[in-house]
Amino acid sequence: MSESNTYVIPDYYDENLRIFRSAVDRFAEKECAPHTEEWRREGEIPRSIWRKAGEAGLLMASAPEEYGGGGASFAYEAAIIESFGLCGVHQFVLCVPNAVFGPYLFSLGTEAQKREWIPKLAAGEWIGAIAMSEPNTGSDLRGIKTTAVRDGNNYIINGQKTFTTLGYVADILMVACRVEGRTEIDKSSVSLFFVEADSPGFSRGRKLDKMGLEAHSTAELFFEDVRVPTDHLLGGAEGQGFAHLMTNLNQERLIVALEAMAMIDRAIRETTNYVKERKAFGQPIFDFQNTQFVLADCAAKATAARAFVDACVKRHLSDDLDAVTAAKAKYWLSELQGEIIDKCLQLFGGYGYINEYPISGMYRDARVSRIYGGTNEIMKLIIARSM
Ligand SMILES: Cc1cc2nc3c(=O)[nH]c(=O)nc-3n(C[C@H](O)[C@H](O)[C@H](O)COP(=O)(O)OP(=O)(O)OC[C@H]3O[C@@H](n4cnc5c(N)ncnc54)[C@H](O)[C@@H]3O)c2cc1C
Repeated sequence: MSESNTYVIPDYYDENLRIFRSAVDRFAEKECAPHTEEWRREGEIPRSIWRKAGEAGLLMASAPEEYGGGGASFAYEAAIIESFGLCGVHQFVLCVPNAVFGPYLFSLGTEAQKREWIPKLAAGEWIGAIAMSEPNTGSDLRGIKTTAVRDGNNYIINGQKTFTTLGYVADILMVACRVEGRTEIDKSSVSLFFVEADSPGFSRGRKLDKMGLEAHSTAELFFEDVRVPTDHLLGGAEGQGFAHLMTNLNQERLIVALEAMAMIDRAIRETTNYVKERKAFGQPIFDFQNTQFVLADCAAKATAARAFVDACVKRHLSDDLDAVTAAKAKYWLSELQGEIIDKCLQLFGGYGYINEYPISGMYRDARVSRIYGGTNEIMKLIIARSM
């Protein structure tokens, strides 16, 4: 198990979860860690790795067993996120199909959809993604322009999405649309549809050239008269999109917090190892009081952050994580991630700026945590409204 200077196994781990976590660590270290830079360059994770992850039981871990999922709790998804983060394989973003896309399907999808799609996702044959943001709107989803028009037993979807994580490789997408022909009030509302990527009229644009997280295959998507059956409308009723999004947003924000936590622990571990080796003025960099003070400050904050994020996971496991606490976790952990990685990078000196050193990749990858999953400004609005 990947221990680090600040990392300790969370106290909600039982024996089964420890065994699972050890298997995930082995998978991450053997199958993924040696290839992460190659994946960055290629801008995606090979399908063969998705299939191996499926064989290893890492996909759809928390989906019901009767549909081919692992039947496990969110603690197992958290264990995967932590393991991958600590091993530096956060480029392999399987938490999106698993714990962001997955719950919409297995809690709100029809029986036929679950039977059709969960086994494919669990085997790594298919990849799921979520397409809400559009070129002109992200924070304010009421502004989305993609439309769905009812036509007999189908809806016809037209519009454009952007920033879709895994959008370039996804086989199935959950797409946020406005249903046309409704009243003004309903027009401002949103409905969610499952769209298969081989549907006529669906196409992908560029794989977006990003400053980090290159293997996430983030893409623009286009919908031109894409026909989907009416039972691809999530939950079966129009205008329920926001209500459905609310059911999963806490988990999505907790995932961003968990990813940030794992990267914080890894940054402190890598930096501590580096400064103990690297010498200046005849002594290890670690022996300068400044280095010790910086790392002590990072370690103390990481310990406090760990207590908070683990408490949030436990509350989520008891179905007791409220939206404000989830927003606080996403906001505070992602801000801390940026602060600590920046301080750690400084301790690497010039090598911190060189891409072959992992701290440089962490610096680039971390920046988006303050933007996606709801920007940190939106998180602060949610927090302030509760005060
Ligand atoms: C790498 C990456 C992956 C992503 N993955 C996905 C995905 O898989 N699916 C998906 O649907 N989207 C995804 N997104 C989109 C992401 O969720 C949005 O970028 C984010 O919600 C912000 O929306 P925006 O970019 O339109 O910014 P805008 O909404 O235009 O915001 C611009 C700025 O204004 C601020 N702002 C906006 N409203 C307010 C307000 N009321 N008060 C104060 N400040 C405000 C914002 O905080 C921000 O600083 C991804 C984005 C990135 C970069």
